[in-house]
Amino acid sequence: MGLRSRLLWLVQAILAASLTFGALLFFDLLRRDELVDFRTRNEKLVQAIGVTAAVFVAQNDLGGLDTLVAHLSESLKGRDLIDLAVVDEQARVLAHTDTERFNTVLTDELVSEAIDTDSTVWAHRGHELVIGVPAKSGIRWATVVARFSFERVEAQISRTRMFVGSALFGLFLLLAAVQLVGLERLVIRPIRTLQQAVRRIAEGHLTTRVPPLKSRELGELSETVNRMAAALQAERDNLERAVAERTRELSEANARLERLAVTDGLTGMFNHRRFHEVLQAELLRALRHKRPMGVLMVDVDFFKKVNDTLGHPAGDELLRRLAEVLSRDLRQTDLIARYGGEEFAVVLPETTKAEAIQVAERMRGAVEAKLNGTEQWKQTITVSIGVATFPEDGTTGEALLEAADQAMYLAKRSGRNRVMTTKGPA
Ligand code: GH3
Ligand code: MG
Ligand code: MG
Repeated sequence: MGLRSRLLWLVQAILAASLTFGALLFFDLLRRDELVDFRTRNEKLVQAIGVTAAVFVAQNDLGGLDTLVAHLSESLKGRDLIDLAVVDEQARVLAHTDTERFNTVLTDELVSEAIDTDSTVWAHRGHELVIGVPAKSGIRWATVVARFSFERVEAQISRTRMFVGSALFGLFLLLAAVQLVGLERLVIRPIRTLQQAVRRIAEGHLTTRVPPLKSRELGELSETVNRMAAALQAERDNLERAVAERTRELSEANARLERLAVTDGLTGMFNHRRFHEVLQAELLRALRHKRPMGVLMVDVDFFKKVNDTLGHPAGDELLRRLAEVLSRDLRQTDLIARYGGEEFAVVLPETTKAEAIQVAERMRGAVEAKLNGTEQWKQTITVSIGVATFPEDGTTGEALLEAADQAMYLAKRSGRNRVMTTKGPA
């Protein structure tokens, strides 16, 4: 519990204690006031009775006195009067509300005091008030003594006390309720909000922020939590950016490596390895869908002579030129690769034998047309091409390559610069 709330409770306790003390004091004063009032009122009453009684005693009219007392007893019934007596100077009863007491002697101390005194006397006895008054009419004739009960007045005070007490209690309850509501609104609810936000942040929802809180201390705490969440978020964003950057670099490097792994360094064409992958994949497809497929094996005629005459760099240059010319007229789905040395291999998906021969013939013609006509290579540049097709020449990659190779050698043997199938000229 904070110092401030402890002080608050202390102030409240002091307030409650002083209110209770004040209420007690108030009732005490009220009671005293009421009692003084009660006495004064009844003193006046008894004094008035004294005057009338004196007249009867002066006339020695004890019957009249009796009637007066009987009347009074009747009319004051229920008005706090317990009994009333008129006595002579020997304290002998001349008249009494209790007629049986007639002529007896009252031994009460106050009666003696009243007889001896020329003014009104009174005394409290428990819940009773006794008043003695001289009965005078010119001279003193007798003494009137009356007993009154406080009970009715006390009951009234007690009712008031009950009423005010309940009102105060109700007020306290109301105050307590208001405080509880205030506590809920000012402390408990904001703490719950803060707790929920912190839990979400802890679960990794770093964009969560605590809404502005009214209380100063909680407001500072929530700002700190928000700053912490923002810092964590920034840190995580940086990390994610760095990871994304590294991942991108890595996948680029992987792609480069992959390209390198399937590319021929000299011509930039796909290499032997890639050729076999594609051949295998296309063959599977052709088998599954029962579609035709062609394979070409291209070999440069008398290539060795270029090397021998012009040197290897010129041979390399010729290979690059050949790669360009051979690749030019192929479809998107076709694949040409440098198979090895000065040999190129081609996969032609969805291609019949007749179509494959056409493609081969176009290639041969293109080389003949494009690479000659200058003295650059000091010899005629031509290619011999062997054609094999699925399913006629084989149903495996090896069988098709073997057939294409045989067809190509057949072309060599038949004089070069031509297209051949295993069965002879195209
Ligand atoms: P033919 O095929 O018509 O029978 O005669 P050829 O001269 O082409 O004979 P062969 O296939 O035996 O010769 C191939 C030559 O290609 C051998 C080799 O020196 C050369 N060669 C292979 N790879 C390369 C290369 O990467 N660069 C160069 N410059 N020459 C290569
Ligand atoms: Mg060769
Ligand atoms: Mg050759």
